[in-house]
Amino acid sequence: MTDTTTERIAALLSEGLTLRSRAQIEATFPARSLPPGAEVMRVPPSPTGFVHIGTIYAGLVNERIAHQSAGVFILRIEDTDKKREVAGSVARIVEAFDYFDLQYDEGPIREGAYGPYFQSQRGDIYMAYALELLRSGRAYPDFATPEELQATTAAQQAAKVRPGTYGKWALWREKTDEEVTAALDAGTPFVLRFKSTGSHEKRITYEDVFKGRMEVPENDLDVPLIKSDGTRLPTYHLAHVVDDTLMRVTKVFRSDEWLPSTALHIELCQALELTPFTYGHFAPISILDKNGGGKRKLSKRKDDEANVEFWIAAGYPVEGVKAYLLGLANSTFEDWYRSNPSVSLSEFPVSLEKLAASRAPLLDMAKLQDYCKDYIASLPQDEFNKRLIAAQTNKDFKHALEVNADYTNKVLEIERTGEKPRKDLAKWEDAFDNYAYFYDQLFTKDFAPQILAQLEDIDTKTVAHACAAFLESYDPADESQIWFEKLKAAAEKCGFATDNKAFKANPEKFVGNVADFARIVRVKLTGKNRTPDLTAIMRVMGIDRIKNRLQ
Ligand code: GLU
Repeated sequence: MTDTTTERIAALLSEGLTLRSRAQIEATFPARSLPPGAEVMRVPPSPTGFVHIGTIYAGLVNERIAHQSAGVFILRIEDTDKKREVAGSVARIVEAFDYFDLQYDEGPIREGAYGPYFQSQRGDIYMAYALELLRSGRAYPDFATPEELQATTAAQQAAKVRPGTYGKWALWREKTDEEVTAALDAGTPFVLRFKSTGSHEKRITYEDVFKGRMEVPENDLDVPLIKSDGTRLPTYHLAHVVDDTLMRVTKVFRSDEWLPSTALHIELCQALELTPFTYGHFAPISILDKNGGGKRKLSKRKDDEANVEFWIAAGYPVEGVKAYLLGLANSTFEDWYRSNPSVSLSEFPVSLEKLAASRAPLLDMAKLQDYCKDYIASLPQDEFNKRLIAAQTNKDFKHALEVNADYTNKVLEIERTGEKPRKDLAKWEDAFDNYAYFYDQLFTKDFAPQILAQLEDIDTKTVAHACAAFLESYDPADESQIWFEKLKAAAEKCGFATDNKAFKANPEKFVGNVADFARIVRVKLTGKNRTPDLTAIMRVMGIDRIKNRLQ
């Protein structure tokens, strides 16, 4: 192409944009003054829907690597695909980062010196680089129509060769100036493509932080650099190379779906005379398929757990989730966590070697819940109360907790200390199930109906009889031992076996055994089959409430 034609194309691409030269741009993104060894890390989500828990995982790892080296952590919004963008997604990303306390130094709201941090606001920057590639002969306009591209794909299928725009399949790669001029004169739309000089037959090597030495074919694809959707925004390839260079990112950690594009990114860097990046490609979080399908990637569509809203709505404690995710990233975390119970998670030194070894992190919800249960159980009483109440979304329950403050304090203290403190809350949402029955209105509405189901194997007369017998001897002042002796006596009086052997030998001689008797009392009082120690519960409930429920 002649210079005139090249400039005609450049003018069309940059129409209406105020472009600076590459040198001018680079002067505004100087090297950062950071201590030696400081890492500049980034997480660049696209605002195309809900926030994936994998983004939080990546955020946690990148944030740690940045901050533990006195470096910088950037949150970049990759909003170049306007068709896939979903309104409100940016706010969701920012909220999720705040919720999980992932302190980014630069990004939306926290403007730094290397912004804008929205790619859609950096269009002129990418264009300067795209035009440089055009002018140096490393980019060309492709006027192929969608039909022509389809025909190429069909021909590639028939010839059983790789799909894509490369070599002889790149229709406009070697066109003459006359042909290009004619297409321009006709006003034919075009897309700006990279002109690769690579060969698929040759191989290159690079060092991946997580995967070690990689040997891959050279890139030979002539990928689009600028989108042809009218926005003139860059494709991911150009945007990644330009932004991570200008923002002075020191390590690019990204999901291994980008692994096949790495040779292209290396070639793009070379074409622009930029230093290629240090990459780390990690496997996405996987999950065990609930229908027995084995281990598979966490799916946006199938798994609620993929969406951080699920975690936030249920009130999983951030600290528990983060602790679990750190354990996924580094196998040494668990030991560190156990031996440093009161140290902030941000003190844990994330190791890249350990991260590399944690191949495909598996989300084990049972284990995660254990982390959260331990965390909630470890909270001091005051904080536990405050956070539990603040997190309730059921208005009636929240109101009940708040208006009966003294009663609530006693309720929430049950079995939180001692040798085996209770661990029945994995998330704040679980509080309803475990505490709402203490409040009469909620008990009547939400728990009393369950009583019928849970005592359906015992006839109502027996239930009434058992409750009356129990109440008759109950004294709130009794210690647990005496309480139990009295319960046994009442059970015996009602025809229940107090000796399990005797019961097993002749079950037909008894109404049930003492465990059945205790179950009646427990279920009538709480609507539940399993609760913490009943004597403690009864002491807090008070005699009037007990009578009310047992009569
Ligand atoms: N916006 C890209 C994505 O969401 C970022 C990939 C990267 O980390 O470079 O997949």
